[in-house]
Amino acid sequence: MPDRDNYLRAHNTRHQFHPMIHPMISADAPPQIITGSEGCYVTDIDGNRLVDGLGGLWNVNVGHNRAEVKQAIVEQMDRISYYSSFAGTATPPSIELSAKICEMAAEEEITKVMFSANGSDAVETALKLARQYWQLEGKPTRTKFLSLKQGYHGVHFGGLSVNGAPYYRNAYEPLLGGCFQVDSPWTYRNPYSEDPEELADAVITQIDRLIQAQGPETVAAFIAEPVQGAGGVIVPPESFWPKLREVLDRYEVLLIADEVVTGFGRSGALFGARGWGVKPDMMCFAKGISSGYVPLGATALNKRVADAWYRGFSPEGIIMHGYTSTGHPVGCAAALACLDIVEREDLPGNAAKMGKRLLDGLTPLAESCSIIGEVRGKGLMVGLDFVSDKKSRTPMDPGKGIVERIASFAREEGAIVRPAGSVIILSPPLVIEEPEIDIIVEALTRACARYDA
Ligand code: PMP
Repeated sequence: MPDRDNYLRAHNTRHQFHPMIHPMISADAPPQIITGSEGCYVTDIDGNRLVDGLGGLWNVNVGHNRAEVKQAIVEQMDRISYYSSFAGTATPPSIELSAKICEMAAEEEITKVMFSANGSDAVETALKLARQYWQLEGKPTRTKFLSLKQGYHGVHFGGLSVNGAPYYRNAYEPLLGGCFQVDSPWTYRNPYSEDPEELADAVITQIDRLIQAQGPETVAAFIAEPVQGAGGVIVPPESFWPKLREVLDRYEVLLIADEVVTGFGRSGALFGARGWGVKPDMMCFAKGISSGYVPLGATALNKRVADAWYRGFSPEGIIMHGYTSTGHPVGCAAALACLDIVEREDLPGNAAKMGKRLLDGLTPLAESCSIIGEVRGKGLMVGLDFVSDKKSRTPMDPGKGIVERIASFAREEGAIVRPAGSVIILSPPLVIEEPEIDIIVEALTRACARYDA
């Protein structure tokens, strides 16, 4: 019997398998139990050493088990392991990290940062601040939010309400009112055009019409991921984000970039929006900010938004929003060490280079495999889109379990990859090098060959 099953039985006497409840972990599919990690590799309880093609969950950007990060955490623990950075107190790591983010995002005119514990918190903070911004501007009717289909913005009620995938939302309705989704500018599947420019224009026109129909005086903000991640790694046309900024500016609507995945290098630029040449009003960070060593979220505000808050500073203007873990000193210390590595080792540059190798490596597979419709990506966000029919591009029904099976074959062949609906997602650590990229490509190639056989 594998060690995993012995371990699970030892920790649960009453149930067949394990005591944890999660929809993606069932008794039929017990979890792979990860017990060790180093750089781009993890080890499971049965002693298998695998390339971490997922980078944890799109977050271990600096790689696992880095001495600098561990040292920063331990040193901070020795000084002070917890004090909040709101309600009138702060700690040096939270002050230094906010200054660091402002310095890294000087181009975007980021001047204030509000911390939280994860990506869902960072999004919730941005949505609430958007409404508060308009209150302070004397335009309290601006309360509505727009977003893209296929978008993912976390699990809290605000984030869920702007989420573009019914799959995540349906069980929790009714959600926040006044949230509207437009089509994702997705070249592979859209009702408009395969021409990227025509597609970008069609979606922008849809946004323009929606804002006019709702009334610009009612719209607070548009939230989107610079590259959609959990929705299937959807890369918009080059001109989409600049045109998005333009149409939002026309109606003074705020732009919130959900950079939870793209922030700090993953898409090949320091920030996803910067990769498109666009300056958002707010950016939501988590995941890569602290590479998963300690959970941390951050919402960064540009001058426009931050100034309004300070102008309106009064009993009514105070942000009634903060978490017990706002600015957690250990999380902030870990993040400072991680961001130092991001800069020192030029991780955005490596993501661009290694992302290209990954895409190039997988392109022949996508062409030859009968059930892969497309391989796409930007930087180290890459997706393999599985189809039941290449011509009609019909997504593979996840219920058939085929994508899951290929992902599990890939694990047996040496790389952890993630099945998400009909797409296999790849997001390895940004420190990855050529040999590990090649292992991921080979593992997937062998996995698909095993399926075809
Ligand atoms: N926004 C985006 C773009 C994400 O990908 C995620 C998580 N996958 C979130 C928000 C939510 O982050 P968390 O899981 O840390 O709450």
